[in-house]
Amino acid sequence: MIPGPFTYHRPSSVAEALAVLAAHGDEARPLAGGHSLIPMMKLRMATPEHLVDLGAIKELAGIRADGAEIVIGATTTQAELIKSELLAAKAPIIRETAMQIADPQIRSKGTLGGNVANGDPGNDMPAVMQCLDARYVLQSKGGERIVAARDFYQGAYFTALQEGEILVAVRIPTPAAGHGSAYEKLKRKIGDYATAAAAVILTVSGGKVASAAITLTNVGSTPLFAEEAGKLVIGTNCDAATAKKAAEAAMAITDPATDGRGTAAYRRAMAGVMTARALAKAFARAKTGA
Ligand SMILES: Cc1cc2nc3c(=O)[nH]c(=O)nc-3n(C[C@H](O)[C@H](O)[C@H](O)COP(=O)(O)OP(=O)(O)OC[C@H]3O[C@@H](n4cnc5c(N)ncnc54)[C@H](O)[C@@H]3O)c2cc1C
Repeated sequence: MIPGPFTYHRPSSVAEALAVLAAHGDEARPLAGGHSLIPMMKLRMATPEHLVDLGAIKELAGIRADGAEIVIGATTTQAELIKSELLAAKAPIIRETAMQIADPQIRSKGTLGGNVANGDPGNDMPAVMQCLDARYVLQSKGGERIVAARDFYQGAYFTALQEGEILVAVRIPTPAAGHGSAYEKLKRKIGDYATAAAAVILTVSGGKVASAAITLTNVGSTPLFAEEAGKLVIGTNCDAATAKKAAEAAMAITDPATDGRGTAAYRRAMAGVMTARALAKAFARAKTGA
């Protein structure tokens, strides 16, 4: 449970961090909150020789509105997401999800950037970012590129992030005023990763669903965008029969592993239950403005 030796770097700008990463290639890794990377280093599942701590880089911090988007800096902690009045007003699903990550100690250090860049299918924010149709801003010495959250995840711990790149910010199209959302997560105990979880964001017009997005956490090797399930609820009033159909469509795209959280069959069924619950909650919230 002791990490291998490494050199610790604490740059004060993105340019400096990128230079250190470029100088050491795949022997270097960014360090954010350390709540995923350090445990992996202790287990020797990761053995970086250079850790590039992003914590002192001011340009990576903060949450702001930018025209029709919300921009969240990569090193914004889960605790800061919970405290943000802008997010509470404009995209409450982020706060609701952050509240369900681990415990307050971990949330005080764990960052949005680390959570989404990590590539662990158990992380909660990737599915929520897919539901919000977020874009990840990636920077390297060669410049900047933007990758949609829905295209970023390629397998467990395998993402579109390339060697020498830092995720600098997440850009989220501000959800429509009056939208409804919910993140429903089944876990064995407080602080646990999801057995299965579902995120839903929808809008309602004239009592019917006008738009909907549904995504899933920890029931496949990546977060899953349940596109078909979302389409099934459009034009409906989210009645029980529709929710059942959507839940079945969501379950159909899952491929969970049997592990300590349950069998594959149980976790697939729970993905359906979480989808139906999140749909009902999001629809009620959109109608009542809660
Ligand atoms: C007991 C426990 C329970 C937990 N439960 C949950 C849970 O229920 N749900 C959940 O979602 N998470 C959970 N976590 C993980 C926690 O949320 C982490 O904080 C998070 O996954 C990683 O964020 P971090 O800032 O700590 O990143 P780090 O651990 O520092 O980094 C994680 C990975 O991302 C890379 N990285 C970090 N930042 C960047 C960046 N800006 N650009 C490029 N690469 C970057 C690192 O190189 C590393 O590979 C738990 C952790 C613990 C210890």
